[in-house]
Amino acid sequence: MALHIVAEANRCLNCKKPRCQQGCPVHTPIPTVIQLFKENRLMDAGRMLFENNPMSAVCAIVCNHEKQCAGSCIRGIKETPVHFSSIEAYISDMYLDRMMIERPEKKTKKAAVIGCGPAGMTVAIKLAQAGYPVTVFEWKGKIGGLLQYGIPEFRLPKSFIDRYQTRMEEMGITIRTNTTIGSVLMIDELFRDGYASIFIGTGAEKPRTLGLQGESLGNVLFGLNYLANPKGHKLGDRVAIIGMGNAAMDVARTALRNGSRHVTLYARSKNVTASSSELSYAELDGADFVFGMQIEKITDEGPVFKKAIFNENDEIVGYEDEPVQVKADSTIISISQMPRRKLARTTDGLKMTERGLLEVDENYMTTRPGVFGAGDVVTGAKTVVHAVDGAKKAAEAMIRYMESEEA
Ligand SMILES: Cc1cc2nc3c(=O)[nH]c(=O)nc-3n(C[C@H](O)[C@H](O)[C@H](O)COP(=O)(O)OP(=O)(O)OC[C@H]3O[C@@H](n4cnc5c(N)ncnc54)[C@H](O)[C@@H]3O)c2cc1C
Ligand code: SF4
Repeated sequence: MALHIVAEANRCLNCKKPRCQQGCPVHTPIPTVIQLFKENRLMDAGRMLFENNPMSAVCAIVCNHEKQCAGSCIRGIKETPVHFSSIEAYISDMYLDRMMIERPEKKTKKAAVIGCGPAGMTVAIKLAQAGYPVTVFEWKGKIGGLLQYGIPEFRLPKSFIDRYQTRMEEMGITIRTNTTIGSVLMIDELFRDGYASIFIGTGAEKPRTLGLQGESLGNVLFGLNYLANPKGHKLGDRVAIIGMGNAAMDVARTALRNGSRHVTLYARSKNVTASSSELSYAELDGADFVFGMQIEKITDEGPVFKKAIFNENDEIVGYEDEPVQVKADSTIISISQMPRRKLARTTDGLKMTERGLLEVDENYMTTRPGVFGAGDVVTGAKTVVHAVDGAKKAAEAMIRYMESEEA
């Protein structure tokens, strides 16, 4: 690996106007990092990466690089782009365990973070680095959000999250797991207990339902519930998956790795929302794909579809009359997810938008003064790097707020 990435770094043209950097949602200073790496200044390169993106070690693995840094690299126009993600993975993997943790002078005001996914982790790290005492409240038993309970182990080893937790604790961040805010403890009680500013990074982890007959049957599951604990479910040999997004690909690949032999994904149209690389991996692992299947209901036998009729432009122009019963031991519904309303329901003045997302202004402040939000709960289901982007801006706004008289 080392030889490959050195060769890869040597291919970088150190462009004056780096298109790779523009293509990255958090504008990672790619050419500078590559130059530092070439000068054997690994720790400086790592520091630069983490300053810009505390989730760098994760993003190097899970980002859609073909659409972002690699997809924008000038070398990609005529030949293969520079695969910065491999270089980033090497540097940030080393840096994660070796970084010097500095403890800046403690500020008197303290902050609370609700939810410990990539957004909450980013805010906690940024605030701790600025000297604010931070307590993170996490509903589940382990931190990481969808890195822990969504993205499968074979794509992102969970050990990364444990390593992050160690470093966060060394930074002085207090993490309270198994603690839901909006249930036993409320946001008002956090203010009562002296938190000057609160961040909501509770994600979008409520599976979307089909609203069709059969969803509560014993042989039916939602994708996120399955991915949270794949070993806890006996799916059987034949698995039908409704949906063709990235999460559905993870469901299919996980089912194939856990013993199911015939895994088929069904989509209504001919559009696949998953990225082309995720689709090819699922195909490589043995998943099958069937298009033009409109789900009607689910029975004990499996899903029932209506077959779509397409015109020459692949647009649906109608459906065949006769429904098709597909035989499956298990049916998994994986058609995206949305935020829960728990916090809005239990907090005076905290509003959700009509689309069911947490409402924030241009400073990432919610409709409740002193309460900020970012990540999937604000944007809807997106990606790790987009959660980091919003969280960084929210952390800056929280610092401005805490430094002001208001807090
Ligand atoms: C199967 C799957 C695969 C994915 N693959 C990729 C990928 O390859 N690349 C990529 O970039 N993105 C991927 N994503 C998307 C990515 O994981 C999310 O965009 C990202 O995790 C969002 O971060 P977040 O911090 O906003 O929310 P989350 O990661 O959802 O974290 C929210 C946290 O808040 C906690 N929480 C919720 N409510 C409360 C409460 N009331 N009190 C306390 N804690 C609470 C939750 O338990 C959770 O830990 C994938 C998503 C899924 C579902
Ligand atoms: S666009 Fe490609 S060649 Fe240019 S600086 Fe970025 S990685 Fe290097």
